Amino acid sequence: MTDIQLSQELFDRANGVIPGGVNSPVRAFGAVGGTPRFMTAGRGPYLTDADGTEYVDLICSWGPLILGHAHPAVVEAVREAAGRGTSYGAPTPGEVELAEEIVARTPVEKIRLVNSGTEATMSAIRLARGFTGRAKVVKFAGCYHGHVDALLAAAGSGVATFGLPDTPGVTGATTADTIVLSYNDVGAVEEAFAAHGHEIACVITEAVPCNMGVVPPADGFNALLKSLCERHGALLIIDEVLTGFRASRSGWYGVEGVAGDLMTFGKVMGGGLPAAAFGGRAEIMDRLAPAGPVYQAGTLSGNPLATAAGLATLRNATDEVYAAIDRAASIVASAACEALTKEGVPHRLQTAGNLFSIFFTDEPVGDFAAAQRQDTKAYAAFFHAALERGVYLPPSAFEAWFLSAAHDDQALERITDALPYAAAAAAAAASR
Ligand SMILES: *Cc1c(COP(=O)(O)O)cnc(C)c1O
Repeated sequence: MTDIQLSQELFDRANGVIPGGVNSPVRAFGAVGGTPRFMTAGRGPYLTDADGTEYVDLICSWGPLILGHAHPAVVEAVREAAGRGTSYGAPTPGEVELAEEIVARTPVEKIRLVNSGTEATMSAIRLARGFTGRAKVVKFAGCYHGHVDALLAAAGSGVATFGLPDTPGVTGATTADTIVLSYNDVGAVEEAFAAHGHEIACVITEAVPCNMGVVPPADGFNALLKSLCERHGALLIIDEVLTGFRASRSGWYGVEGVAGDLMTFGKVMGGGLPAAAFGGRAEIMDRLAPAGPVYQAGTLSGNPLATAAGLATLRNATDEVYAAIDRAASIVASAACEALTKEGVPHRLQTAGNLFSIFFTDEPVGDFAAAQRQDTKAYAAFFHAALERGVYLPPSAFEAWFLSAAHDDQALERITDALPYAAAAAAAAASR
C-alpha cells in the first residue's frame, strides 16, 4: 500500500469543518470507497499528493487542463495578471479578448462571462425564458448541467454517482416546469413538443453527454432537436461546458456543426481558474441587462486572473495540442479495452472524438438507464488497483477519462503498465 497517512489526517480534519470533507461530492471517493488523496502539486500529466506519491492524472481537473498542469504560459499569464491586481470590479481588456476569442471559434455572436458552468446554464435558462416568455425546460436524464435547481432532476455526474433520485432542497415548484426525457429518444422529444410545444422555452442538452459516462448523440439527434425547437419557437441550449475547446478548438461544434441558439462554455476556457460563459445570437443576448431587461450579474465575472489563464490556454492550444490529446486518448482507451478483454471483464468503450469512457457492461449505452446497469463494484476495484500503481482515474464509473497534450509517451506507458493489474482486480470483483 502506498502511504496515505497525511491524506487521511487531512481528510479527518476536513470532515470536521467541511461536509463530507470535500467541496464537490465526487472528490470524496464515495462511489469507490477509501481515502481521497489530498493533492499538493500538479506538473504536466502528473499530480503529487500530500504524502509525496505521484500519479498520472486522468482527470485533468475534470476537463479544463488540456495543456496539463502548471503549463508555463498559463502560470506566467496568471502571475503577471496577479501582479497587476486580482480584481477591479470594472471592465478589463482581458474580458474583451476572451470574448472575441470564443466568438471567433464558435457560432455565438455575443457572450457573457460568468464564474462557473452552473452559472452559465442557470443564466442561459433564465434568458431563454425571458426571451420566449415561456416557462418549460426540456432536459435529458443523465445530462449534467451543474447544480442549477431546475436541472437537478435526473442529472448525471455526482448526482448519478450517488444515485440521488431527487435532491432535498429542490422543491416540486422549482422542477414543475422541467420535463425530463430519455437521451437519444427521438419519439419522446416529438411527443413532448406535440403536447407542450407552445409552453417550451428551451431544450438544454450536453453537446455530447459526458457526465453519465460518454454517450454520443445518435446520428442527427442534435440536428433534430434544433429543427424541433425552431418549428415550435423554442430555443436550443447546447451545453459545451465540458466539450468546449476540448473536443476540438471549436468544441463539439467543430466536430458536428450544430449550433445552439444559446451555448454554454466553461472548464477549458478558464484554464483551471473559475471562468465560464454563455452566448448566442445577438438578438437573444441583447435581452440581457444592461442592454435588455433580463437580469444577470457577478462581482468576479470576467476576473482578470481567470481571463488571463483562459486566454493563455486557448492561445497555446495549437493543432498539435489537439492531435496529441486525440492520440493519447486513443492509446489509453485501446489499452484499457485490451486489458479488460484479456481478463474477461464485460466492458464497453464509448467515444465521441477524443472524449471517451469505459462502461463496465457489455450492452451498448445509449441513455442513462443503460449507464446505470453497469458493474460499479468492478469499476471500484479497477480504480483502486490503478491508483495503487500511480494512475489517478475518475473515482466514479459515470465519468469520462480526461487526457492532455502533456501526456507524453512516458506518462502513457505508466498508464498502460498499470491497466493489466487494474483489469485483473476488476475481474476478481466482477459481480457474476
Ligand atoms: C462541469 C459541467 C457543468 C458545471 O460546471 P461547474 O463549473 O462545475 O459549475 C455544466 N455542464 C456540463 C456539461 C459540465 O460538464
